[in-house]
Amino acid sequence: MSPKSERGFGLFLLGLKANVTLRDKFGRQITDLRVSVTDRCNFRCVYCRSANPETHMPAGNLLEWDEYERLVRLLVGLGIRKVRVTGGEPLVRPGIENFVARLKMIGVQDLSMTTNGYMLANHCEGLVAAGMNRINISLDSLNREKFEQITRTKTFEQVIAGIDAAQSSKLRPVKVNAVLVRGINDDEVEAFAQFARDRDLIMRFIEFMPLDADRAWTRDMVVTGAEVYRRISAIWPLVPVTHERSETARKFRFADGRGEIGLISPVSQPFCGHCSRLRLTADGKLRTCLFSKEDHDLRSLLRGRASDGEISDRIQAIVSQKEKGHRINEPGFLPPSRTMVSIGG
Ligand code: SAM
Repeated sequence: MSPKSERGFGLFLLGLKANVTLRDKFGRQITDLRVSVTDRCNFRCVYCRSANPETHMPAGNLLEWDEYERLVRLLVGLGIRKVRVTGGEPLVRPGIENFVARLKMIGVQDLSMTTNGYMLANHCEGLVAAGMNRINISLDSLNREKFEQITRTKTFEQVIAGIDAAQSSKLRPVKVNAVLVRGINDDEVEAFAQFARDRDLIMRFIEFMPLDADRAWTRDMVVTGAEVYRRISAIWPLVPVTHERSETARKFRFADGRGEIGLISPVSQPFCGHCSRLRLTADGKLRTCLFSKEDHDLRSLLRGRASDGEISDRIQAIVSQKEKGHRINEPGFLPPSRTMVSIGG
């Protein structure tokens, strides 16, 4: 077969495989993958990491780029259409742009990243050139002092420069994420809404989840999406924006102008019934829920010379057992042993 017809045949096979779907026992179709490329982060956000030194995954446990590429290729063959690269902080891992380009070559239709924005201004062009479609940037305060307290860094300007760079680039949409914690930044809801209007971007408010390293989460620290909606719509009328059922955010635009808000309410209004997500951790574990009690080791299969078929079969078996929901609101709930930074948000 000539190289050209060989490539054509490869694409034909990929097309056939794209019809394969990953479904769990509740009938949910799994189309979205979060890929964590590191458990390291250059921020220490109070709702995520501890101020104390934490242990990191040994380097030898981290998946190599080739291993990620193989797994994502298999997952795309099983019906994954959206891939979000995350961490830790994904931009701290050298070679990230090249990895994004490799994901694009595999045929990932919708490729995005979640970043704290600190290194984004320098990486933005490279990510666009590599085929990145969209970006989510975390920003938990518009007040420099408070931002420094939350992130335990002095990087406010660089993060704003990262948002500027994203907005001037081809990345669309640009979403800015704030985790609201009662008593820390819940006084900024209206300011964040104004930020979305001024900059014509999507401002998303995320409920604080029990995934922090200090295990300080309590229910009264959660600022609900309903409260955010009430406070913003009391000033600026909001109009619902249609969204896919599996999307995490309920979206609204401002009736009188630019910008949008998204309410991500996993605690007060769980959306598990429409969940379409899987997570791959930096050490090669597949997780079917943020709050899974156990994760599933794919690294040993990769390194143990399992065939593509064996790995795909294992993935399908794991997905079929995806839990019904996260159980945060059930009596006796216990948070998972892994915290957000080592799962990949
Ligand atoms: N470093 C990147 C960043 O800061 O966006 C990506 C990784 S971070 C773990 C992914 C997302 O998880 C961020 O939006 C972060 O705010 C969110 N997050 C971390 N801990 C959380 C918690 N306990 N509850 C809710 N969201 C959390």
